[in-house]
Amino acid sequence: MIEQLAGRLTPTRADTRLGVGDDAAIIEPGGRALAVTTDTLIEGRHFPVGTTAFDVGYKALAVNLSDLAAMTAEPAWATLALSTPGIDSDWCDAFIDGAREAIGGASVDLIGGDTTRGALAVTVTAIGTLDVESAAYRNAARVGDVIAVTGSLGDAAAGLASLSQDQSAPISINDELVARLNRPTWRKGAALAGMVHAGIDVSDGLLADLGHILEASGVGAHLNIDALPASAALSAWVGGEIDTRRRLQLTGGDDYELCLTLAAPKLEQARAAIGCALTPIGEITADRGLQLSTADGKTFESTVFSVAGWDHFDDPSNPQ
Ligand SMILES: [Mg+2]
Repeated sequence: MIEQLAGRLTPTRADTRLGVGDDAAIIEPGGRALAVTTDTLIEGRHFPVGTTAFDVGYKALAVNLSDLAAMTAEPAWATLALSTPGIDSDWCDAFIDGAREAIGGASVDLIGGDTTRGALAVTVTAIGTLDVESAAYRNAARVGDVIAVTGSLGDAAAGLASLSQDQSAPISINDELVARLNRPTWRKGAALAGMVHAGIDVSDGLLADLGHILEASGVGAHLNIDALPASAALSAWVGGEIDTRRRLQLTGGDDYELCLTLAAPKLEQARAAIGCALTPIGEITADRGLQLSTADGKTFESTVFSVAGWDHFDDPSNPQ
């Protein structure tokens, strides 16, 4: 399996001195700071049982590249540790195809990792370069900052919910939403270096992840929940169930959009730089806590949405 993987992972970067094949990979980044992140995905927990090898490979890379993006790091290298029940070369090829698809046009080399027999699980470590002065940090939100999110929220949670509906349910499986669950788009956060103060990717749900920024920065926030961007697929799927849509957008995980805080005058520049929708949804306040309001002026405490985000140590067989 290692030979097969190595045969498909020939380094392309001049500063990758040693890729797969030794006890360690050697990289020579030439004085630039490196951002390093690791995420594990386990079947039945982070992706549904039966997810294709391609989608597992895709998601394993995308979620890690998204973590780098949240720091404004430019991704460069990744290692992967793969636990599978057996050796299956077709599965392996499809897995690498998916990983490659997630990397897309970015210059990222897969430089090594580990393989073991066991329950299906993937651990990826991704490494990126960044400038420490202009990077985004969870503790860097400033009072008065606009809070903005890329893309749209709630699709992945809706995709997961649609999969768990039985056939007789009025809301059917939606392929577009399931694709957003299995193949999340990681945003090119590196383009935002120097434009944003705080950043995080929405992996556990907007309320939970924005909460990490607020806590680390010692600030609060006000969110306009009617400003939360929804895809056409999500709006069509929930129909008139506005509270369902709001709950999915506020607490649904796995979207891997970026939640950023920045000075209002930088919004247009940031939107042009990242090249996707960047929607203002609220602002950072000196008052601690998270206030939610609707466009017609109703206000809520964030606690009305009882699930504050994905708990990694929750029992997956007993979702709350
Ligand atoms: Mg993250």
